[in-house]
Amino acid sequence: MIIIGGGAAGMIAANFAIKNGAADVMLLEKNEKLGKKLYITGKGRCNVTNDCSVDDFIRSLPHNGRFMFSALRFLPPATLRDMLRELGCDTMVERGQRVYPISQRASDVTKALTRGMAKAQVKLGSEVDSLIIEDGAAAGVKLRSGEILRCDAVIVATGGVSYPVTGSTGDGYRFAQAAGHKVLPQNPSLVPVTLSDPWAIMLQGLSLKNVTLSLFMNDKRVYSEQGELLFTHFGISGPLTLTASCHIAGADASSVRLSLDMKPALSRETLEVRLKKDLQSNGRKQLSSIMGDYFPASMAALFPAIAGVDGTTLCSQVTAKERAQLLDTMKGIPMHFVSLRSFREAVVTRGGVDVKDIDPSTMASKKVRGLYFAGEIIDVDGFTGGFNLHIAFSTGALAGASAATYLEN
Ligand SMILES: Cc1cc2nc3c(=O)[nH]c(=O)nc-3n(C[C@H](O)[C@H](O)[C@H](O)COP(=O)(O)OP(=O)(O)OC[C@H]3O[C@@H](n4cnc5c(N)ncnc54)[C@H](O)[C@@H]3O)c2cc1C
Repeated sequence: MIIIGGGAAGMIAANFAIKNGAADVMLLEKNEKLGKKLYITGKGRCNVTNDCSVDDFIRSLPHNGRFMFSALRFLPPATLRDMLRELGCDTMVERGQRVYPISQRASDVTKALTRGMAKAQVKLGSEVDSLIIEDGAAAGVKLRSGEILRCDAVIVATGGVSYPVTGSTGDGYRFAQAAGHKVLPQNPSLVPVTLSDPWAIMLQGLSLKNVTLSLFMNDKRVYSEQGELLFTHFGISGPLTLTASCHIAGADASSVRLSLDMKPALSRETLEVRLKKDLQSNGRKQLSSIMGDYFPASMAALFPAIAGVDGTTLCSQVTAKERAQLLDTMKGIPMHFVSLRSFREAVVTRGGVDVKDIDPSTMASKKVRGLYFAGEIIDVDGFTGGFNLHIAFSTGALAGASAATYLEN
């Protein structure tokens, strides 16, 4: 059996192929080391999975969640944690049920998976150029060097096209397409957002906690969550933005509207009472000088202008209309969407090998016997929180076990 790709999906596929009795497992990785992307996940700490039920897991996949049912039954989060523990990598649960290695080192996950595939032959620096298919069945691969390696089963675990510096450059899409599979267009997901608002760019470096970001598509609210948001030199990033981007991937930019509630814990009425009082008791001061009580310094200076009010106005002279503008803006700063950032900055790829061409109970191709797909190459993706790595782990495990069974029969 040949496994193409030494990322999360490929390494666990090798573990399960060996566990299920496959005698000759060869893993081909074009980089000079295994798990190059895994190494940078979770800011180097690797949010390996999410400690939730299968049903909750599926609810955290905005796209093609049902396809994952069998893979998640085969390798639920708890089983993955047990397996990693047996291989010497204990894990712990943090906020939002996110699971990390206790050591806080992503490299320990790669070390554990490497231990579990000690019997596999790993060939680094080996770039696959194409699949060899004979009589409708997988028969081997051709390397970029021209070398031909023959086998009776192939697992394609080459990842998507996000963060291509880690090796995921979309080669597998080419293999899948050439073998007759439908490959859906790819879009970046879990990715920062470019805005056209000059004030947002002026706030670059500012990180806001406990704000609510809402996303409207064609004026329908599709996402609204409280959390952390970061202003950057192009627009916004941070957890709230990344999650919102899952709903935007592939959509028409003109249908997208974003709004930021700076004071989600306070109703408009409560804020109005407070603002009225502050304006009255600071009548001789300029409006901008009292904004520091509401916002961090860099935002306080800009806020009246964002709301369309002159910040030099004396508090006593702020009109009812201007007060309403300030309140409306506090509860919903409009942010003007331009585009999602590119694949170079995307955590995950939306799109890829059509799930209709893959048997969800085995990860086998429906077009070519002995051919399997695993990981981000498949058109499934999840929110942040360990879901994307677990998609790779569970589909990889199922593909490895299924390919071993196929070879036995
Ligand atoms: C910065 C960042 C942080 C992330 N953090 C998290 C997180 O904390 N939790 C989480 O759940 N998800 C996270 N993700 C997403 C997660 O890392 C991916 O979804 C997951 O790694 C996909 O695994 P994979 O094995 O399918 O693909 P990859 O990890 O991309 O592995 C594919 C491998 O195939 C190799 N390859 C490609 N083409 C060829 C070829 N022709 N021949 C030989 N080898 C080839 C590549 O070199 C690569 O090593 C993060 C992603 C990024 C970019």
